[in-house]
This record gives sequence, C-alpha cells and structure tokens, in this order.
Amino acid sequence: MSRVFHRHSNKLPPIGTKGGGVYLYDADGKAYFDGSGGAAVSCLGHGDPDIINAIKQQLDSMAFAHTGFLGSQPAEDLADLLVDHAPDGLEHVYFVSGGSEAVEAALKLARQYFLEIGQPERSKIIARRQSYHGNTLGALAVGGNAWRREPFAPLLMNVSHIAPCYEYRDRRADETSSDYGQRVANELEQEILRLGTDQVMAFVAEPVVGATMGAVPAVEGYFKRIREICDTYGVLLILDEVMCGMGRTGTLFAAEQDGVSPDICTIAKGLGAGYQPIGATLCSVEIFDAIKTGSGFFQHGHTYVGHPTACAAGLAVVQKLTQGGIVDQVSAKGKQLRDLLHQEFGQHPNVGDIRGRGLFVGLEFVADRDSKAVIDPSHKFNARLKTAAFEAGLICYPMGGTIDGKNGDHVLLAPPFISEDHHLEEVVSKLSIAVSKVTADLGM
Ligand code: PLP
Repeated sequence: MSRVFHRHSNKLPPIGTKGGGVYLYDADGKAYFDGSGGAAVSCLGHGDPDIINAIKQQLDSMAFAHTGFLGSQPAEDLADLLVDHAPDGLEHVYFVSGGSEAVEAALKLARQYFLEIGQPERSKIIARRQSYHGNTLGALAVGGNAWRREPFAPLLMNVSHIAPCYEYRDRRADETSSDYGQRVANELEQEILRLGTDQVMAFVAEPVVGATMGAVPAVEGYFKRIREICDTYGVLLILDEVMCGMGRTGTLFAAEQDGVSPDICTIAKGLGAGYQPIGATLCSVEIFDAIKTGSGFFQHGHTYVGHPTACAAGLAVVQKLTQGGIVDQVSAKGKQLRDLLHQEFGQHPNVGDIRGRGLFVGLEFVADRDSKAVIDPSHKFNARLKTAAFEAGLICYPMGGTIDGKNGDHVLLAPPFISEDHHLEEVVSKLSIAVSKVTADLGM
C-alpha cells in the first residue's frame, strides 16, 4: 500500500525511476515518450547536464536563503534575462514556486496597485469560461472550468466569466475569423459596463488555452481588441502564460505573437523545465512604481519566494532556451508535428480539429465530424485514451468531460523542444495506436 496521497486513490501510477532525453522509465524498465512534457513542463527533456550542473553549483554555494534577509545572484540574473525577452513594459519579476502561486501573486499585485493609486473600489475580476488558472482558491475562482470549481464553489470569490475565443466551436458560419474575434472580445466590454466601469480590476486570460481545451490560440486581432478595451476602462490585463510561455509556442512569451503586452504576466512550468519548481509574475513599471512610491512593500510572500536553487535552474533553462537557438526551432518543429497529425488523423471520423501553436498542439475528438457532436461523456474517452497511450509507451495529456455542454474530449501534446524528426513521428504513431484501440473498444 502506498502512503503517498495520490490524486486517484484506487489507481496508483507506476514508480518512475529514470529520465533521459525525451523518455521516462518506470521501475520495470519500460520507456515512455514524454509526449506532453508532464503538463507542458519538460521543455528540455530529462537529464540535461547543463541544468543539473547549474543546480549542483548553487547547492554547493548557497542552497537557500530567505529573501526577507538575503537576495541571490541567480534571482537577479534570471529577472534581468526574463525582462530582456518579455513583452514591452514588463520590467519587474516576482518569483514564486509554481503556476497557481504566480496567479495568486498577479491578483494581489493588481489589487494592491489600485489601492496605491487611490481606486479602492476596483476589486472585480473578469476571466473566461473553459479556462484553468490553478488549483489554489484564488486561482480556482478565476478559472472557468466548471467541474473543478463545483465542489469548492462556496469557498470561491465571485469572478465573472465571459466566452473564450474558441473558433472551432463558436464561430458562426456567416462570420469571418476576424469578426468572430471582435465579437467575443467585445463581451469583455459588455461585462465591464455591466459591473461598473470603476469597479473592475483585471481581465485574466491564457494567450493559448492549454489544460481545459487542448492548445487553442485566439484568432488574429482578438487580444489587440482585448488590450484596447482594457486601456479604455483602466482595467489591468493579466496574461497567464504558465503553460503556453517559455518558448512553448515558438517565442519565449506567447503574447508576442498576438502583438500585445499585458500589465502582468504569469509564467511557471517550462521556466524550471521540471528541474526545480519555480514560477514568476512579471509586472509593468507602473504597477511596481505605484507600490514602491506608495506603501513601499508588496503585501504578499511565501517562504520559498526567489529560492536561489530554483532560480539557478530557471536561469540555466532560459539561457539555454534563448542562447542555444532552441526556441527558434519550436515553430518549425510544431508545424512538422501538426503536419504529421494531419496526415494520420486529417480524415479520421472522430478527430474534429487539429490545432495549436509551436510545440503546443491539441486534437479534439468528436462523435461526428460534420455535426461536431461531442462523444458521450459516459464513454470516458479521454481516460481510456490516457490508459491506451500509456500502454503504448506514450505519456500525453487527455482532458475532457462536457463543459458548458460543448467542449468534449481532447488531447494535449507538448513534447520536449529537443525532439527530433523521428521523435515526432514516434509520438504520432503511438497516439494512433492508442486512438485505434479506444475507438475500436467503444465500437466507434
Ligand atoms: N495557469 C495555467 C494556464 C495552467 O495551465 C496551470 C497548470 O496547469 C496553472 C496556472 C497552475 O499551475 P501549477 O499547477 O504549477 O500550480
């Protein structure tokens, strides 16, 4: 019996014993292709000696110091490097230990900013349905993922949720992509007007939606309109790049490709690449200055904020991503992966959509391609797919369940950036074996 409190008490995972390159191995020596990089974490694969050495060196010099007493050089250097590559205006970095913490810090920064500038009435948050921003209570309240929120609803603060930008399902036949993007973006303006223009503090969204929808980028122009609306009403734009950031979509920050700069941006996952738990919340000069010249301190903190060893790992990762030309190859590799998926599944009766950006790729499964009818949730398609893929030696990230009566089953692929041509072919062929097994078992 395992005393570890696993997520599924009745279905324990095998013990993992080794990682190397794009593979993980269990105690029986079975190899698994890490096709989703955990959950879009392991961008550099496993066992990278440069990252391991950077961590070892930091452990030898100073493993930990509480930032209430001492800062550290890796934290300084990592903040500089992130700001060098961040969207315009993001100039300060608050380090945390993961994605949910980064989102919590973002919400508190936004709130404190409005207190400092004398607008205490601004406390309302608007986010989107079918989104995921983390599992702590603040982040869970912001997320629009119905089944995750439901059990904890009485504990969650009140957040408004507008429509996501989900072209595959929501664009009307008589609309262009661009018209669709403007229509859904305008829902933000309607919600701000409904809540009161002086009441709203922030709008939160993922540039490319990951965990809940399987790599759904917004249509062109959507985020520009969102930025315009935020500016008009003095609302802060918080972009959550916890999953889609750190090169996953082909640029270090995903928002770059949407042509917008947020006021606050959260990152995690790929920042530590799985070698250390680390996240960060970047914010604008205006927010930093308001707090600096106001109360003078950000009223927040955790013991492991700016952990030196985690920052040393993050620094080595971002150096490798940006200076080694690795991120520059992500777009081309992503296109190659999507081309392979189109060859394999383009005509598949149960694959409705193949989408994504860079090496952040999703497939949506349907009962019928023409009507886009979702697969009966009682079939547990995505759970079966996870098991079948695992048996075939592929770790991928299937998600599903009907959300808002629409979003059905999908799988997220986020292979390490070090994947070579034959690796991408291996992902697709293993996924194909798994999909064939599940559809055959279900008589589809
Ligand atoms: N934000 C987004 C967009 C995420 O995808 C996730 C995790 O999947 C989180 C926040 C929460 O991150 P963590 O699991 O590190 O707390």
